[in-house]
Amino acid sequence: MRLINALTVDVEDYFHVSAFSNHIDRNHWDRYPCRVEANTRALLGLFEKAGVKVTFFVLGWVAERYPALVREIASAGHEVACHGYSHELVYRQTPSVFREETRRAKEVLEDIIQQPVKGYRAASYSITPKSTWALDVIAELGFRYDSSIFPVRHDRYGMPGARREPHVLKTPAGHTLVEFPLSTLQAFRYRLPVAGGGYFRLFPYWFTRYALGRINKADRLPFIFYLHPWEIDTNQPRVQAGRLSRFRHYQNLDRCEQRLVALLKDFSFDTAERVLANSGLLASAGLAMPGANVMPRAG
Ligand SMILES: [Zn+2]
Repeated sequence: MRLINALTVDVEDYFHVSAFSNHIDRNHWDRYPCRVEANTRALLGLFEKAGVKVTFFVLGWVAERYPALVREIASAGHEVACHGYSHELVYRQTPSVFREETRRAKEVLEDIIQQPVKGYRAASYSITPKSTWALDVIAELGFRYDSSIFPVRHDRYGMPGARREPHVLKTPAGHTLVEFPLSTLQAFRYRLPVAGGGYFRLFPYWFTRYALGRINKADRLPFIFYLHPWEIDTNQPRVQAGRLSRFRHYQNLDRCEQRLVALLKDFSFDTAERVLANSGLLASAGLAMPGANVMPRAG
């Protein structure tokens, strides 16, 4: 039987990405032509054609400007989850600023869809060993699961020693939260990020298919795949950033959409929430009941 994997989209625009934050002032975001609405609609069309439901982690800044888009995502049967408000890296924020902006983003989304938002993903996976306090905040704000930990080494994110598989974790203050870490291929002592974004555009498709297939067949684990609406947009305005940032952002944009269509045929997908629920993790964390709070169970 084929395992069912999670497919996720981080709904943000090309000018929000962390790699460009030294070149684009956050206060000037409103000056850039927005392309997130059209690109997200294009993704919705691809998912409808393939008959799959996925999870959209929506940035609060985007949700405030495009509430109709968020409603469209929800009414098509997809999961609406939270990508924070400002796309500031978590470890550059104080806990109180992080708490306020994450609460604001969750409230904006819940006001629009009139349903509780259960999933959270940090900007650029920026929950690292420096910012594990954020897991407390996420649990205390009522999220049921997090998908921000990338168990690799990278210049901007990563928690190299963290577990690779979805699991229930205890936050530093003792709350319970389900974690769906970004998927990696374990090859000898090395962990290779293979499940989305720049890696999906960088590696040839046959390699991605092989690596994700190995996670399903050899590890018997569901993987979590991610991409951004701007990754299928070949006509987006070019930002004059450094060479590495430009390479990471623009490499193989023109191949992304056709690869995604192939991926949708080669693997089975569903929302992150349902993949975690089906694995029993949300239930074992005491988080499956509607309205259940996130405090650890007694005993
Ligand atoms: Zn992001």
